Amino acid sequence: MRKMTKITLDEREMPKQWYNIAADLPGPVNPPLGPDGKPIGPEMLAPVFPMNLIEQEVSTQRWIDIPEKVLEILYLWRPTPLVRAYRLEEAIGTPARIYYKNESISPAGSHKPNTAVAQAYYNKAFGIKRLTTETGAGQWGSALAFATSLLGMECRVYMVRVSFDQKPYRKMMMRTWGADCVASPSNETQAGRDILAEQPDTPGSLGIAISEAIEAAVTDPSGETRYSLGSVLNHVMLHQTIIGLETKKQLEKINEKKVDVVIGCAGGGSNFAGLSFPFISDKINGADIDVIAVEPASCPTLTRAPYSYDHGDVARMTPLLAMYSLGHTFVPPPIHAGGLRYHGMSPLVSHTLRHGLIRAEAIHQLECYDAAVLFSRTEGIIPAPESSHAVASVIREANRAKEEGKEKVIVFNLSGHGLMDLVGYDKFFKGELSDYALPQTDLEKYTEILRAYPDPL
Ligand SMILES: *Cc1c(COP(=O)(O)O)cnc(C)c1O
Repeated sequence: MRKMTKITLDEREMPKQWYNIAADLPGPVNPPLGPDGKPIGPEMLAPVFPMNLIEQEVSTQRWIDIPEKVLEILYLWRPTPLVRAYRLEEAIGTPARIYYKNESISPAGSHKPNTAVAQAYYNKAFGIKRLTTETGAGQWGSALAFATSLLGMECRVYMVRVSFDQKPYRKMMMRTWGADCVASPSNETQAGRDILAEQPDTPGSLGIAISEAIEAAVTDPSGETRYSLGSVLNHVMLHQTIIGLETKKQLEKINEKKVDVVIGCAGGGSNFAGLSFPFISDKINGADIDVIAVEPASCPTLTRAPYSYDHGDVARMTPLLAMYSLGHTFVPPPIHAGGLRYHGMSPLVSHTLRHGLIRAEAIHQLECYDAAVLFSRTEGIIPAPESSHAVASVIREANRAKEEGKEKVIVFNLSGHGLMDLVGYDKFFKGELSDYALPQTDLEKYTEILRAYPDPL
């Protein structure tokens, strides 16, 4: 019988509920804190987010229904295929079976529309007309631009300056979907003006852009603007679990009973959580699965940063979140994996690491590009630089399986394609990229401010 390469589900088989890991987590979860160091109430978030999303943010209900209108938009590209990477396996010569969830086929080219559509929908249902947001490499901005255009809403995106200059095509995508995109820091907000006065040549950071986008939302006198965040928060992790839920159905379909390794790259944690949380649920119930979050060595949040309370943004407009953090003033080096340069990490993902449910790995950029090129030349899809971190880790695991002579099953998330990121590949081929580990002195400098905050449990 011919071997199956692509395992597909039809629309009727798509999961109709999201999985909320908050229902199953071991140990006490550290709540977000307000400026007074006390846990915040939902009303404190109300100027920033609509109440229906705030309810999801704090929910501990295990399963949450996906609204019909959200499903209808997701059907445009979901369910996404799970693909057996036969050619990659062969190139490595591994006995491992490697599967990847292909999230690159969404209209914006990554997993991000999974939550963008849900967030735009809940905002609209709450009477909101306009969303503001930040974007690093431009993937989140384009995902939200896509979602708001389908739902008939306005969208304004603050894009980290270095990416704004390096990635003109993402801007053009946002424009095509009808969104406004400005370079951050900008002169349009107080937060932006303050940073520009101090550091006129700053490459910008996600933390700065978040401050600008929140300020723009909460200062709109009409009250019809809210802010939308593409990662980190609990409701974003929730919306992404459709990835892992589909994957489990697909593996079931081909009778693949035991998964040994689950891998995703981690910036704010959402695509990693999306694939892994449904598997971590099995792990909490006794399954033996190695779950790996992969990050760049230049922005080593999970592998080297302390677990602490910290703000999500430079202007300290967000509540204090308990997470692994390099400190909210962290300005990452301009490596090409723009989406993996955030200073913090999803509190839920941070919690799973603290409780030993996952482990983390930091990989240098050249190994990631090597891996991405091998993947491109075997499987055909050119991975996003972020996704290349997952690919590099998969290759490490596949080589280990080869050394041990073990038939492991490895599943990973191909979070996006790299067709808008080819400048990075070009630089790689020209030999212009190098490895960069965050110096310990920098790490200590940036994390010093964390001592001022309350200790998490
Ligand atoms: C944004 C992005 C990431 C990083 O964000 P997470 O929230 O950690 O998933 C990873 N891969 C791609 C393709 C992205 O666009």
